[in-house]
Amino acid sequence: MHRVLIADSLAPAGVDVLRQSADVDELRDADRPRLAELIADYDAVIVRSGTQITREVLEGGDRLKVVGRAGVGVDNIDIAAATQRGVLVINAPTANSLSATEHTFALLLALARRIPSADASLKAERWERKSHVGSELHGKTLGIIGFGQIGQRVARRARAFEMEVLAYDPYLQAEVAKRLDVEPMSLDGVLAGSDFITFHTPLTDQTRNMLNRRSIASMKDGAAVINVGRGGVVDAEALLEALDSGKLAGAGLDVFPEEPPTDYRLAAHPRVVATPHIGAQTSEAQERIATETARMVLAALGGSLAVSAVNLPFRSSGSRGEPFLRLGEQLGRLAAVALGGSLRRVQVDLWGIDQELRKSVAVAALKGALVPSCGEGVNYVNAERTAADRRVELVQATHSDQAAYAHLVRVRAVGAEPPAGAWTADGVAEVAGTTYRHGETHGDLRVVSFGGFRMEFKPQGLLLVVRNLDVPGFVGRLGTLLGNGGINIADIHLAREPGGHALAVLRLDQPPDDECLAALLALEDSISVDLFDLS
Ligand code: NAD
Repeated sequence: MHRVLIADSLAPAGVDVLRQSADVDELRDADRPRLAELIADYDAVIVRSGTQITREVLEGGDRLKVVGRAGVGVDNIDIAAATQRGVLVINAPTANSLSATEHTFALLLALARRIPSADASLKAERWERKSHVGSELHGKTLGIIGFGQIGQRVARRARAFEMEVLAYDPYLQAEVAKRLDVEPMSLDGVLAGSDFITFHTPLTDQTRNMLNRRSIASMKDGAAVINVGRGGVVDAEALLEALDSGKLAGAGLDVFPEEPPTDYRLAAHPRVVATPHIGAQTSEAQERIATETARMVLAALGGSLAVSAVNLPFRSSGSRGEPFLRLGEQLGRLAAVALGGSLRRVQVDLWGIDQELRKSVAVAALKGALVPSCGEGVNYVNAERTAADRRVELVQATHSDQAAYAHLVRVRAVGAEPPAGAWTADGVAEVAGTTYRHGETHGDLRVVSFGGFRMEFKPQGLLLVVRNLDVPGFVGRLGTLLGNGGINIADIHLAREPGGHALAVLRLDQPPDDECLAALLALEDSISVDLFDLS
């Protein structure tokens, strides 16, 4: 029988599932400091957010095969170390969707009917009815931004309240919108047409600060916003200003840019109904998370890969395949970010990649290409399904002609619309890379061509990509501007093309602010400036 260690408290229903087919122990608090030693006796460990599964703990797990995270975030688990040691990491990303959906309505109704202040005044023994005139949901327009698991459930409930529903999601399919009686729209259309706007996107480079001064300005006067998604989607300062000025009538917030906040101005604002990230805090969600995690851990111990895996471990082939997967993933990510628009196809071309790794490298590229729009919830196991749901096609080809490199992976991200980003030619962003061998092992990743330019740089960290006219002095002016902005350049790579354009890729130690980026673009001879975060 497999032995499973529960390191953080798990809802009893999950413990019961485990006990039916495994030997289960619960870690006592007194034993916690000895986890790296005790783990040697277990095939699987289940954690929530309280236990750190560090490299040291994983190295102690001689027979450890699975780490189950009863929840979503995996910040407390060293995924790279787990992958290297062949340990599968599993999480339960969808078990709390219903609770988060209902919490959205809890905030929506509390805001519309001023429940918190009415309750507070009554508790203070005041009978104040006139100051608590609210508004009905019936007949109002709800704008849903991010139409995935939760956004779609919110839409169904909003229709039951007889609300009009508008939705924006770059991957929204017409038939899903039709089935749910929802009108798909552009982001600006949703912002301008809604009385209430609710955010259900992951936090990505594209969604960070999506609610900002500009987007608030295009909203209806007196509209309200709800955020049960991720705090970083909202620019807190812009929201505070809009609430103070009365441009926005209110906000219902379950999530904050920093949790717990050090700055409580938003939570304390009289026009805000705030809760401390309790969207998933229901007994049903906790039970579902516990039982789903328990079932998946048992299935994985039984050899199934049909689980929500965060990584794809490589013990069987040693760590030989791992650098190629990382390469595929980083190239996919870079190509998708460079595309800058809605993705329709990921084309992966391979030279010199072993037969048994080809599919995995292609899937890794697909995963990397989906992360910028889908967030970290997409993993090696669900990447193909996620792509199919979004009508993104994966095409893989192997080539035997002589390439300049012993191993070469080329990823083309093909968009749905005409080119959006500066790196796209005919709606295609192309990037190729290799991995260099040091001694016996590969692992030194390099991009070797990007957007038609032949150049070498590491696909990692914060990359500033500047395209300019190939004239003397440009790179000096670029460096001076960054230096004046207090930004350190870690390394710089230059390339030129016959057409008279040049490309500079700079790895930066600090991100430039919007003002600095605008100044870079305003430099004479500058054509485009993009910041890619591949950390
Ligand atoms: P999901 O992946 O099913 O849906 C997210 C949707 O956002 C996808 O359809 C995706 O295409 C869309 N999207 C991506 N980029 C976008 C963009 N730039 N503009 C508009 N749409 C975009 O995820 P989900 O399960 O519905 O979760 C939604 C959010 O809610 C996540 O951020 C999740 O972390 C959060 N969440 C919070 C709680 C809580 O306790 N408050 C609980 C569960 C989930």
